[in-house]
Amino acid sequence: MAETDKIERVIILGSGPAGYTAALYASRANLEPLMIDGGPGRGQAMQGQGGQLTITTEVENYPGFPEGIMGPELMVKMREQTARFGTRFIEDMATKVDFSERPFKVWVNDDLYRAQVVIVSTGAAAKWLGIEMEKPVWEGGLGGAGVSACATCDGALPFFRNKDLAVVGGGDTAVEEATYLTHFANKVYIIHRRDALRASKIMQKRAFDNPKIEMVWNKVVTHINDVSQKKVTSVGMKDTVDGAQSEIPISGLFVAIGHRPNSDLFVGQLDMDENGYLKTHHHVRTNIYGVYACGDVQDHEYRQAVTAAGSGCMAAIEAERLLTLEDAQPGQSSEW
Ligand code: NAP
Repeated sequence: MAETDKIERVIILGSGPAGYTAALYASRANLEPLMIDGGPGRGQAMQGQGGQLTITTEVENYPGFPEGIMGPELMVKMREQTARFGTRFIEDMATKVDFSERPFKVWVNDDLYRAQVVIVSTGAAAKWLGIEMEKPVWEGGLGGAGVSACATCDGALPFFRNKDLAVVGGGDTAVEEATYLTHFANKVYIIHRRDALRASKIMQKRAFDNPKIEMVWNKVVTHINDVSQKKVTSVGMKDTVDGAQSEIPISGLFVAIGHRPNSDLFVGQLDMDENGYLKTHHHVRTNIYGVYACGDVQDHEYRQAVTAAGSGCMAAIEAERLLTLEDAQPGQSSEW
């Protein structure tokens, strides 16, 4: 086991927009943050370095890029910007934490790191259907080539405009994404595995009243065509009642069956809601003094790169204030 005597000022867990922004602010405040960046990742379900934006294509709603920017490129730029001010990186996943006393302990496999402050920005991952064809294009699927888990990110792209599209899911996200897509699409199917939506009544009404939305009940997606053409041409479905197969021609498929916050590491230590999202007060403070949470691991509502970046900024400013006060008045605690 490698163990250093060094006690870091700040350890940042995760390298999406929240983590990089926290690192940018912390490094400019001379806190020399150590970022444990998630490593190379394990595909769509568990993104590593750069987080969820690394599996999107063009990002058109991040301010400052009037022509848009590719998600992976944006994340590389954020990383370079944080490195410029002295952020150090461990290119791996944190495997265990102990927040029971300060300094906090964070393990990466057998290596132990300790810090006065920890900023948790481990993000969330979209849930996927679990079929081959939804994998990213570079893994032989159609992800990023007509299959997406984020209509707000990808829905306005030219190849979805005036086309027939489909959203899978029956919750608020599915209805919200379908409604959003109707601004560009010719028609949007909502494919749901039951005959009733889980979405709130007001969202349901919005879907049922929208002439561009058509419900496809009792169906699970079994196929997305056509991998050989590297574009979406139709979706194959199985009826959950009678097992019958059917197919509808579409040009894009949006999977909206929920997200999962990457918070397993903190079970039993940080307060979380019933879906695993970390609970915070004062925007970014967790239940443990000195541990902040920002970005999608604590935000199930907005889930945008820009909101994640904003909360990363808040966490770093808070961390700096706490450490400055403790430096100036040893033994004193900051407000929490
Ligand atoms: P959700 O409420 O968990 O709904 C997920 C939907 O996907 C359900 O309809 C579920 O079907 C379906 N599903 C799950 N796994 C599936 C699979 N493997 N194959 C096919 N379908 C599957 O998730 P969400 O819609 O992302 O919402 C998450 C939370 O955020 C909710 O509390 C929601 O109210 C909130 N939210 C609110 C707003 C808003 O108020 N504007 C917008 C978005 C989200 P079943 O129904 O059969 O389980």
